[in-house]
Amino acid sequence: MQRLLMRSPVAVAAFWIGLYLLLTILPLLVMLLHLVPEGRSFWIEFSVALGFIGLAMMALQFALTARINRIEASYGVDIILQFHRYISLVAFAFIIIHPLILFVVAPETQQLLNFFQAPWRARFAVIATLALILLVVTSIWRKRLNIPYEPWRTAHGIFAVCAVGFGLAHAIGVGFYLGLFWKSVLWSAIALFALWLLIYVRVVKPWLMTRKPYLVEEVIPQKGDVWTLAVRPIGHEGMRFQPGQFAWITVDISPFRMREHPFSMSSNGDRPERWEFSIKALGDFTNTIKDIKPGTKAFIDGPYGVFTIDRYWDSAGFVMIAGGIGITPMMSMLVTAAERKDDRPFLLIYANKTWEDITFREELDALKEKLDLKIVHVLRKPSEDWTGETGYVDKELLQRYIPLHRGTRQYFICAASKMMDQVEIALGELDVPVTNIHIEHFNLV
Ligand SMILES: Cc1cc2nc3c(=O)[nH]c(=O)nc-3n(C[C@H](O)[C@H](O)[C@H](O)COP(=O)(O)OP(=O)(O)OC[C@H]3O[C@@H](n4cnc5c(N)ncnc54)[C@H](O)[C@@H]3O)c2cc1C
Repeated sequence: MQRLLMRSPVAVAAFWIGLYLLLTILPLLVMLLHLVPEGRSFWIEFSVALGFIGLAMMALQFALTARINRIEASYGVDIILQFHRYISLVAFAFIIIHPLILFVVAPETQQLLNFFQAPWRARFAVIATLALILLVVTSIWRKRLNIPYEPWRTAHGIFAVCAVGFGLAHAIGVGFYLGLFWKSVLWSAIALFALWLLIYVRVVKPWLMTRKPYLVEEVIPQKGDVWTLAVRPIGHEGMRFQPGQFAWITVDISPFRMREHPFSMSSNGDRPERWEFSIKALGDFTNTIKDIKPGTKAFIDGPYGVFTIDRYWDSAGFVMIAGGIGITPMMSMLVTAAERKDDRPFLLIYANKTWEDITFREELDALKEKLDLKIVHVLRKPSEDWTGETGYVDKELLQRYIPLHRGTRQYFICAASKMMDQVEIALGELDVPVTNIHIEHFNLV
């Protein structure tokens, strides 16, 4: 079994899905071990089942976002966060429908909404539901509500703990009320599991990071308002990473403060003694990179991600399509491939606004000496004497450059969301198999 899981990524992915489904319906299975309490209709049982499944799904959300390497290595952070988002809506629907059914089939339960007179188990349910509503609303409309990322992330954690914590208190309270001992045991176990994940993320992980610190070696200015932050391990050997992966970094403050940012490494993955992150100045944190002094302490949580050529050792070659700062994972893959003397063909289609904006322009040119690399620059605002590609990376442009045997290559896309969507659709129309297309979003929320 262990061997099978190690060999086949599909088997690993299927294993996690199976485990997820089992954990989701486990509360129901335990419930089935008991006789249905007398006088309870189908609809009441159905409503209870929805509540159980919804709550189990909410508790499992902690596992999805705890950056557990084994889960992440099977799917990649994009897919996990996508799943986290959509499954939370399903859980939300289940949890909201749960009391609504009760209010219809057993109207006397509406009295439980009277917060001051209701028993504690009902008050817990009301608090949990309110926290859940706030959680969902602030996540879906964060940008529209103008909530900055950092406060949102703190609030998200608090709402999530309240929603699951009070939800569990409600389930345990009702369990004791109905006298179903094993159900209460199960819910207590789920509560402890969620608590452990919280401790793992907030205490254990930051503590592990403090044991393996890094020092900023230099900060190198690049074209396009980008700064490369180079760090080296102190007191340990550092780590290799698969080129194209990313890590969460904390600079100059304790990792316990949870103010970390994700960045793709732009350097050679086979050099554990020096990691480089190339960072575009776009906001509060990224604007401070240029002022970071060599010798500043940094902490790294990673590497993460599956956006890497290393997963496709049998591919005949690679097509990379980058927009602006989306070049960083491509740079890492190209530099690493060059050092490994990889002799497969690489095609890089790289979109920027102007010629002067092109981050790593000279470095990429230099790589042509070491790699079978073709670079197609696409400029949105070219100078008058520009004779290369202009405008957007669309189907016609792609058709001119990607190989005829589309399925023989792996395609990597990293750019602004809109460009990635358009390129993905265009590649589909050009008969590139969907399994050969890999995307990395720089926007988590
Ligand atoms: C997998 C991945 C790889 C990335 N690689 C690079 C890279 O190589 N180079 C690069 O310049 N940028 C990269 N980014 C984007 C980078 O993480 C954000 O630009 C940066 O965190 C913005 O922080 P800020 O405080 O400067 O900006 P703000 O103005 O505060 O935020 C701008 C937006 O960035 C996102 N963001 C802000 N803070 C965080 C945070 N702590 N964690 C996650 N997202 C946040 C939010 O969507 C926010 O709306 C990557 C992002 C991801 C998810």
